Amino acid sequence: MITLALSKGRIFEETMPLLAGAGIEVTEDPETSRKLILPTTRADVRVVLVRASDVPTYVQYGGADLGVTGLDVLLENGNQGLYQPLDLRIAACRLSVAVRADYDYASAVKQGSRLKVATKYVGLARDFFAGKGVHVDLIKLYGSMELAPLTGLADAIVDLVSTGNTLKANQLVEVERIMDISARLVINQAALKLKREAIRRIVDAFERALRA
Ligand code: AMP
Repeated sequence: MITLALSKGRIFEETMPLLAGAGIEVTEDPETSRKLILPTTRADVRVVLVRASDVPTYVQYGGADLGVTGLDVLLENGNQGLYQPLDLRIAACRLSVAVRADYDYASAVKQGSRLKVATKYVGLARDFFAGKGVHVDLIKLYGSMELAPLTGLADAIVDLVSTGNTLKANQLVEVERIMDISARLVINQAALKLKREAIRRIVDAFERALRA
């Protein structure tokens, strides 16, 4: 049995065409089913639904043989012991700094002000601002980062931006692009050895789909 860990939403939806290329289709809709283990058209392949930030943990400890997860999750939470053969180029977005449209970020940075930054990505934000020599107080949030500058909780946020519509709807502007993000295939190292053939077939099919 091959177990693939996915998170609901964009990663799940955008992984489906790649799986189809490997002749694998998930036979239940995760948005309507309450099941956490979804069967596929291949009796030896199943999908487990986990939180995006739990995908590396499942794969690392063998709860799943392989998984699809964002580079943001891998860099923020660590990726020890995971084989990462492929950039799947799905769920593409960028990690950016955003502020209220009326906040003069450039001046604050130039003057050496201490910035209050709210984010889910405390590690990545710390590294980024340290690299720029900007002093920051980091405030860890788990969601709705956009609210922080609007309520005075923070001067800036570090968050994922895709179309920019969420920032715009909340009168925020992107002032720095920290890095481009996309989803990666991750594989458990022991599974790679023990289930080499079955995993190889899936990886090859993903590679073909990416080239097409
Ligand atoms: P957008 O309005 O298209 O710029 O999307 C921004 C919102 O979607 C923010 O709340 C982000 O945290 C979230 N988001 C955007 N892209 C991704 C992604 N690839 N994975 C997870 N969340 C994302």
